[in-house]
Amino acid sequence: MSTGRIDVQTENIFPIIKKFLYSDHEIFLRELISNAVDATQKLKTLANKGEFNGELGDLSIEVKIDKKKKTLHIIDRGIGMTEEEVNKYINQIALSSANEFLEKFKSDSTIIGRFGLGFYSAFMVADKVEIDTKSYKEGAEAVRWVCEGNPEYQITKSKKKDRGTEIILHINEENKEFLEEYRIRQLLDKYCKFLPIPIKFGEREESIKDEKGEEKKIKVPEIINNTEPAWTKSPTGLSDEDYLSFYQELYPGAEPPMFWIHLNVDYPFHLTGILYFPRLKKTVEVQQNKIQLYSNQVFVTDEVKEIVPEWLTLLHGVIDSPDIPLNVSRSYLQSDPNVKRINSYITKKVAEKLDELFKKNRKSFEEKWDSIGIFVKYGMLSDEKFYEKAESFCLLKNVEGEYFTMNEYEEKIKAHQTDKDEKIIVLYASDKHQQHTYIAAAQKKGYDVLLMDTIIDTHFISLLEQKKDKWQFKRVDAESVDKLIDKGEETESLLTEKEREKLESLFRENIKDENVEIALKSLSPEDQPVVMTHAEFSRRMKEMSQLGGMAMMGEMPDHYTLIVNTNHPVMSTLIRAKSEEKKERIIRQLYDIALLSQNKLQGEKLTAFIERSVELMK
Ligand code: ADP
Repeated sequence: MSTGRIDVQTENIFPIIKKFLYSDHEIFLRELISNAVDATQKLKTLANKGEFNGELGDLSIEVKIDKKKKTLHIIDRGIGMTEEEVNKYINQIALSSANEFLEKFKSDSTIIGRFGLGFYSAFMVADKVEIDTKSYKEGAEAVRWVCEGNPEYQITKSKKKDRGTEIILHINEENKEFLEEYRIRQLLDKYCKFLPIPIKFGEREESIKDEKGEEKKIKVPEIINNTEPAWTKSPTGLSDEDYLSFYQELYPGAEPPMFWIHLNVDYPFHLTGILYFPRLKKTVEVQQNKIQLYSNQVFVTDEVKEIVPEWLTLLHGVIDSPDIPLNVSRSYLQSDPNVKRINSYITKKVAEKLDELFKKNRKSFEEKWDSIGIFVKYGMLSDEKFYEKAESFCLLKNVEGEYFTMNEYEEKIKAHQTDKDEKIIVLYASDKHQQHTYIAAAQKKGYDVLLMDTIIDTHFISLLEQKKDKWQFKRVDAESVDKLIDKGEETESLLTEKEREKLESLFRENIKDENVEIALKSLSPEDQPVVMTHAEFSRRMKEMSQLGGMAMMGEMPDHYTLIVNTNHPVMSTLIRAKSEEKKERIIRQLYDIALLSQNKLQGEKLTAFIERSVELMK
């Protein structure tokens, strides 16, 4: 037996390890199992190269709980270590890298505490750790290393017969949760689900037939991982069912995705993965099925905001790259050249896939547009390069449910909807039912109306106006229908100046609402007698402030304009009405109709309107 002192330059790091990242204590298991996987893969490589000629045997890694002894065991049949190697790798290298990691962590607490602590992370949960190991090398003697969470350690001979390494953790009182089967299963499921070497944990029952042909139940070790997840395979060997069932493996019980992209690059960085397009609802809901980041099949995190552009986090799936630096600060990550390249690679792939789907089967693309659209618009808003690519497949949908690319749409409406200033006026509705009256009025004039009813459309409209000089968006209720697209034609007034003045004062006397402006206009006699409009600019400002949560602007009032069509026959009737009471009744009735078309007639006003309407029929 030999004892030694772990060479600690600065201070005793064990207390720091124990306190380290309290909430991330659980990562010790991933660290230790990753080491076991590495040791096993190294042995496989040696065997392939002919440098190891012994029996490989069953290479599964076993995880075991001994509740009585309060120990957790991680057992592999990998390359193992000789005494010399234990000294070198565990007492020197592993320790100094753990030390270095903790130093970095102290100076920059934004470090992603996911990788780096390595073997010594065992001391986050255990007071005593043993390594029982036997090297694959011929004639190697087994050794046992024991350390009780202080700088002293012991190395003794071991009776271990089998090649490989067993790590034994004496779990301490505060961390006894890690002696519970469900807890370990949970961790294995989170971190080890797709590791490349089979991991045994617990047992399950299996029915077999014995010699007499009778059914018999036996217990077999349970393998908790899928060693060959779909993303590691070649796309040519995978069917749609394979992709869909892998999605279920990732997110059990989730609704099937619409389509997916298989990522695969070797140069200038390594990256594989599968990104799925989920069916999105109109409102962007809280994300549950997040993209998972792996490094050589080891789960790292599902907080990928720093690595994947935010708009791409609407997607689901996995990204696996050993080239993403995992233990550096977030701000550094964003300027890392590999991360930048990964971003633009993924963006490019996503755009290519969408373009391909659009070209291959436009009809099916249109059918999925309600989901794809939110995603595409979000991308166009966030990424200039994506905008350029998406111009060819981004669709606009009109209230009739027809779809157009932006070019097609411009061609369609150019002739009809250009105003006197050469602007192409794009009319839209944000609610097909609520704005029905306005839509119908616009359509009667031969105009086309787009449906812009998703949460992102307010921003998307501003974006298109910036990008396309000639386009100007107007919601159908922004102005009276003849002014929506102002072609500079004036309709002559059928009333005399005096009659107009009289009409104006009648409306002003009877309608006293500080948020409603009254405007008299000579429209066509066929147009509606009154229209309530909501000016485009102030309405957008209000929407933007609501979306952006601009509290300082306070609650902005809604400004409406009541447009009175002086050429409508009702106006002459009004002027000529005998009694003041009748005039007032007509005005009230007109006003209520205008309110009604904006969905603003409620409560007492609605009751009064109904009563008055009934009265008028008598
Ligand atoms: P890292 O894995 O990042 O190198 P660790 O602290 O986890 O750092 O481990 C240090 C070294 O100890 C490993 O590089 C490896 O050489 C050795 N080691 C750890 N676990 C095992 C194991 N199960 N089998 C063989 N060698 C191991």
